[in-house]
Amino acid sequence: MGCVWFVGAGPGDPDLITVKGRRLIEQAGAILYAGSLVDVAATRYAPPGCRLQDSKSMTLDQIGDWLIREAGRCETVVRLQTGDPGLYGALAEMTRRLDAAGMTWRSVPGVTSAMAAAAAAGESLTLPDVTQTVILTRVAGRTPMPPGENLESLAAHGATLCIYLSATLLPEVERALRAAGWPADAPMLVVQKASWPDAERIVRGRLDEIDRLCHESGIDSQAMIVASPALGARGWADLSPSKLYDPAFGHRFRAASTPENPHE
Ligand code: SAH
Repeated sequence: MGCVWFVGAGPGDPDLITVKGRRLIEQAGAILYAGSLVDVAATRYAPPGCRLQDSKSMTLDQIGDWLIREAGRCETVVRLQTGDPGLYGALAEMTRRLDAAGMTWRSVPGVTSAMAAAAAAGESLTLPDVTQTVILTRVAGRTPMPPGENLESLAAHGATLCIYLSATLLPEVERALRAAGWPADAPMLVVQKASWPDAERIVRGRLDEIDRLCHESGIDSQAMIVASPALGARGWADLSPSKLYDPAFGHRFRAASTPENPHE
């Protein structure tokens, strides 16, 4: 039996797959890819004769059966998923089936869309003295949120929030953030199809207008919502510099400079 590799394809730009992921695609006998976001990487790097299948219309059982069947036929089977396979990717549901069938499988991480959105907008998700924490979450849709994880309580931390799967739920995002004490003019960022050549769209606005702005731009899917007190920091007059590069702040790779030793 071959090995089933769950490979993170990254957020959309085929150049953002890892070297390891690409190498696995290049040697794959069969690739099952998850919908339109990753078919470019699959078709660009797959070898001639590789069996390619879109899993869009398949159930979890059918996906499991397909992977097991193909692993009986070829050495390398790739299940290609958007972003990172460990985030909203039904990885556990699939791998437990493979475990039950006695199959070998491995997972290869990918660039998740939250990071691609930050990169697209030129934003840092952490900033000294402002926020040092990033919360990856979503708003309840058809999938309910577990107790203790509603957006209002997560937003109360005041940390950076990267909100997946919620492009149509911006009114709820606004309600939750306002209830948690975020101001109406808190900066918001929405990036649709982050990293996609020619398709990426960036919308910035205040918390109380971001829903309308996204509506007007027709953004209702494949979008990352970022709420963070660090947004726009590169334009601040009073940005406090990171200690990492502060001459007075020594660390493992550089001694602090002192009046006696100013050039260290
Ligand atoms: N495993 C994926 C997430 C899958 S859930 C990852 O790690 O990124 C699907 C959600 O991811 C979408 O609703 C959207 O919120 C986000 N997403 C995926 N690709 C995106 C992209 N290129 N740009 C913005 N958001 C994206």
